[in-house]
Amino acid sequence: MTQQPSAQLQGEIDRRRTFAIISHPDAGKTTITEKLLLYGGAIQEAGSVTAKQGRSHTQSDWMSIEQQRGISISSSALTFEYEGRHINLLDTPGHQDFSEDTYRTLTAADSALMVLDAARGVQAQTEKLFAVCRNRGIPILTFVNKMDRPALDPFELLNQVEESLGITAVPLTWPIGDGPDFKGVYDLQTKRVLAFERTSGGKHRAPVQTAGLDDPQLAELVGSDLAAALAEAVELIEGALPEFDLETFLRGEMTPVFFGSAMNNFGVEHFLSNFVELAPAPGPVETSAGLRQPTDEFAGFIFKLQANMSKAHRDRTAYMRVMSGEFDRGMDVIHGRTGRKLRLSQAHTLFAQDREKVEEAYPGDIVGLVNPGVFQIGDVVSLSGKVSLPSFPRFTPETFASVYLKDVGKRKAFMKGLTQLAEEGVVQVFYPTDGAREPFLGAVGPLQFEVFQARMEEEYKVEVEMSVTSYSLVRWLAGDEGSVARFARSMEDDQGRPVMLFRSKYDLDYTAEQHPEIEFLPLPKDL
Ligand code: GDP
Repeated sequence: MTQQPSAQLQGEIDRRRTFAIISHPDAGKTTITEKLLLYGGAIQEAGSVTAKQGRSHTQSDWMSIEQQRGISISSSALTFEYEGRHINLLDTPGHQDFSEDTYRTLTAADSALMVLDAARGVQAQTEKLFAVCRNRGIPILTFVNKMDRPALDPFELLNQVEESLGITAVPLTWPIGDGPDFKGVYDLQTKRVLAFERTSGGKHRAPVQTAGLDDPQLAELVGSDLAAALAEAVELIEGALPEFDLETFLRGEMTPVFFGSAMNNFGVEHFLSNFVELAPAPGPVETSAGLRQPTDEFAGFIFKLQANMSKAHRDRTAYMRVMSGEFDRGMDVIHGRTGRKLRLSQAHTLFAQDREKVEEAYPGDIVGLVNPGVFQIGDVVSLSGKVSLPSFPRFTPETFASVYLKDVGKRKAFMKGLTQLAEEGVVQVFYPTDGAREPFLGAVGPLQFEVFQARMEEEYKVEVEMSVTSYSLVRWLAGDEGSVARFARSMEDDQGRPVMLFRSKYDLDYTAEQHPEIEFLPLPKDL
């Protein structure tokens, strides 16, 4: 199976960096994304990403509900080159209700950047997303943003990261001042001060001057008080904090910490140049057929589905991450789950604003495939058809709504929307098996229901009414077939697996006690 890796393929793998940003909403993920694109040369002027109405949107925001709410719901990949590296940034939604989508996106990343607000430190959403990265063992870099605002003490921030996330935090830069006095950062590795100048609105690269700690002009650059405070901090750091260790970082047990202000472009380029050196290139992937090396023949997996991205034509896209080998447009592959032969001819990728056709792609790259309804999350396409992934994370819904169709004449469109939006992971759908009643929707957070409703109206022209139910738990039923069939088949998920909804943990425990022959699983057994 293993093909002889060509030097060209190996070179392309080595220069790939595929990562995602995790942060609490408002910490500055959108702004950093934009600034990375600015420094990566993908956009000429920052601000083209940020909307004028006071709240920002990335160029990957394509749906009007996102614009109304100013949140980013869907994920996509932005690609740019920097210092010979090919960088794929997976855009993850920051809102806490979109965790399922975000979690899935993280499965396609080789590393993550954790963005913290310097005044707020580690926040709830960061912890949740961080836990997913920890589970996957991917390395995490940290950027402490908004140093131009009054900030927590940097030592306190490092402590928070260590205590709440259980990972060693090692600063690679150190901030010089904060708030209006934020002058720049000290690079603890090269031992140089980077003093920045603010540009109007942070549109252009911030001019930077450098100096050593002992240079007489340092006091001129940052003021003598800050110069003295910096010298003191550096002494403390060098004496008391552990040194950065690449191996420990790659194992996901240590995070390098950078400080800056994305809005003012302070520290962004310095971060980017360190990122491309530290972050790993695509590595092997655990498949059901063993560890697959990126140099093996072509295979890719679907981690995200998205319907209706373009207003002009109602399309469906399946996002595939290349796991191994070279992908060429028009190549014939086998869809593992169905054994069907597919020609991947309609690939496209997203580069900043324009959608471009992809001719070839390498491990770590994200390719959007036109999805005629064959792809599901976790599907693998490969040359042999024999590769599959052992499991793919799904999340147990915690809130449930029933949904009613206002105009029964629209049933067909309703069912189509239901199927497609469930496929994307907007909501999970549970169908009563008597066929008489409308389905129940399950979500991790209630905002998912609003998104469902809005997209139903906008994309499928179907008005629905929803009401949140008192159910709070779902369990998939397992056991021998006869027992499960006898027990209850009142509800099933979109794959026809029997499930049961419960109002409380008490209800669940009671039922489980009465029926020792049945297993009540928080996720389907085959996932
Ligand atoms: P996201 O929700 O994490 O994507 O955060 P955004 O990038 O949209 O930023 C949230 C708000 O913080 C916006 O109003 C930004 O202009 C602002 N912001 C982002 N970076 C900085 C920064 O470095 N300093 C300051 N003062 N504000 C920032």
